[in-house]
Amino acid sequence: MPHIQQLSPHVADLIAAGEVVERPASVVKELIENAIDAGASAVVVELQNGGMSLIRVTDNGCGIAPGELPTAFLRHATSKLRQPEDLAAIGTLGFRGEALAAISAVSRLDVFTRQKGAQLGASLHLEGGVPGPVEEAGCPEGTTFAVRELFYNTPARLKFMKTDSAEASAAAGVIAQIALSHPEVSIRYLRDGKEELHTPGDGKLLSAIYAARGRDFALRLTEVEGGGEGVSVRGFVTEPLAGRGNRAMQTFFCCGRMIKSALLTAALEEAYANRQMKGKYPGCVLHIDLPLHMVDVNVHPAKTVVKFVNERALFSAVHHTVKDALDAAANPSLFPSASQTVSQPAPAKPVTAVQQPRSDFYQTMDAKSFREKAAASQKKPAASVMPLTPELGSRVFFHDSGRPQRPPRQMPEVPSAPAYTVRTFTPPPPPATEAKAAGVAAEPVKHTVKHSVEPAAPAQVPEQTAFAAKPTPWRFAGEVLHTYIIAEDGDNVWLIDKHAAHERINFDRMKANAEPIMRQQLLAPLAVDLPQEQYAVLLENLPLLEEFGFEAEDFGTGCLMVRGIPSDLDTGLVRETLEELSEKLLTSGGADPAAARDVMLHTMACKASIKGGWTSDPSELKVLIEKVQSGEVQYCPHGRPVKIRLTKYEIEKMFKRA
Ligand code: ADP
Ligand code: MG
Repeated sequence: MPHIQQLSPHVADLIAAGEVVERPASVVKELIENAIDAGASAVVVELQNGGMSLIRVTDNGCGIAPGELPTAFLRHATSKLRQPEDLAAIGTLGFRGEALAAISAVSRLDVFTRQKGAQLGASLHLEGGVPGPVEEAGCPEGTTFAVRELFYNTPARLKFMKTDSAEASAAAGVIAQIALSHPEVSIRYLRDGKEELHTPGDGKLLSAIYAARGRDFALRLTEVEGGGEGVSVRGFVTEPLAGRGNRAMQTFFCCGRMIKSALLTAALEEAYANRQMKGKYPGCVLHIDLPLHMVDVNVHPAKTVVKFVNERALFSAVHHTVKDALDAAANPSLFPSASQTVSQPAPAKPVTAVQQPRSDFYQTMDAKSFREKAAASQKKPAASVMPLTPELGSRVFFHDSGRPQRPPRQMPEVPSAPAYTVRTFTPPPPPATEAKAAGVAAEPVKHTVKHSVEPAAPAQVPEQTAFAAKPTPWRFAGEVLHTYIIAEDGDNVWLIDKHAAHERINFDRMKANAEPIMRQQLLAPLAVDLPQEQYAVLLENLPLLEEFGFEAEDFGTGCLMVRGIPSDLDTGLVRETLEELSEKLLTSGGADPAAARDVMLHTMACKASIKGGWTSDPSELKVLIEKVQSGEVQYCPHGRPVKIRLTKYEIEKMFKRA
């Protein structure tokens, strides 16, 4: 073993810097927090190359006295804490006195600052934490930090940086969070000179949410205000019907500080028990305030984890406040509660709008008329057209068009749209025995299907005939639970998961990229508003979106204008798909092209597939059986099995015959 010796201050600083400064986003966070602590009402954040070449944060706060400027960059130098007992009640965002030391240790940094009312300002340049002389400078009141060439002297850390766009997205996420934590501060974010976020700083949380999380999110919120046992809870939560695919949109602030807390997540989600769809998560922006001595913020270097003295009180306050607000929103007349008085611009209330027809539905429709209506809607094949994948060509996929989550998709029959025509064909009848076994009419049904007018299209009809004429080694025996196909082959009985099988087929087809993705032009372009991070990551991946059949363009300030979509995507699913895609891209490091492509493949394959629970036509199920039985399809893209075999022997054993 080498000798034990104390590290030089320089090495110690680099190690300490690693804890605080992980990536550009951490620098951005510390610098904005300092600006807010300095009483700024406006902060501008500029990033170049994802912050790797420049991070500049300018505020109009109190400024720093020239004589104290070098001190600010020493470790454990702070103006926010004096005595040990101060630690018990921290009211500022910073207190560790480490950020400036850490940031300057791993960058080339310039600071310009002028105190309120001072004649002159001062500037200081540091290289790797080593300061030059303090110089007089003419600059506006407030402080500007310019951090250049982050990690230039720590190549090991530099290696871990993702692409510029991933770093910029991470920083955008942090900026959005801080904007939400301090609606009274106007935050402006410019990425490579382009404004990506600008909150008004009018003190209204909803204004900040609108700017930082996007219009779609802001318009589907319920206001929350309440608390108990010294804990105050206020903010906004998503309506139960506006649940998200993951927890990325759950934002909690404790005493103005963004925190991550499993306790708060649980308290929120329990309030949605029995009203949130399975697999969906509520979103929120919740401000929780409690006496400073009831919370310990000094447990994590990045200060995102805190300890609560009374966890039960906190859980109960959040849980009940959210639950009461959701109850009140669902039954407005029953709960004219004072806590629902909206002091800020009232968000639209689609919960009521959506629930109203539902209660009408149950009041006005008895079971018989419902069945009749459902049967009538089943008889309309034209409204049940599923898009044809190029590979499955002329085979017909259709489903229960009455399902609310999937409105019937039909191409507008616009004669001037040259890329598509509507053709009609008659699939051959199934062999009589098969039809009888499956309990379906042998009568051929006419279906309307869409085709691209590629020369290949006419060739698909003969292919269909050839397929149907070929004797199959298996027999289609039926479908159960609207999800599992039953097929028989010799002494084997097969259960096939129709969604998993179709998803796999779509996945393989898209992955092989053998055929160009067909696109349908939207009659009216669709404006999709997205939260800052999501918007940024989709913009970054526009070429990939295009490759998969989308035609979308940047419409500025969080809005994507979608003009075309993949032909096998339901028009009603565009918004949901883009939201899901962006969320997945963000969580899976989507700025890496291979990872992004993978996310895209999975999402699009899933969205283009028939779902468990949908009513399917036997002819479409047979296509799936054919693919599965040929061995072409084994597992769904998520690794779940597509088929399960039961042998005759196993069945006989169950019935005690064998
Ligand atoms: P901390 O924020 O934990 O005190 P920092 O290293 O982030 O530690 O900052 C050190 C000190 O520098 C702060 O306590 C504050 O006095 C001063 N400072 C930093 N940024 C600003 C700013 N934007 N405006 C005014 N003072 C600042
Ligand atoms: Mg600080």
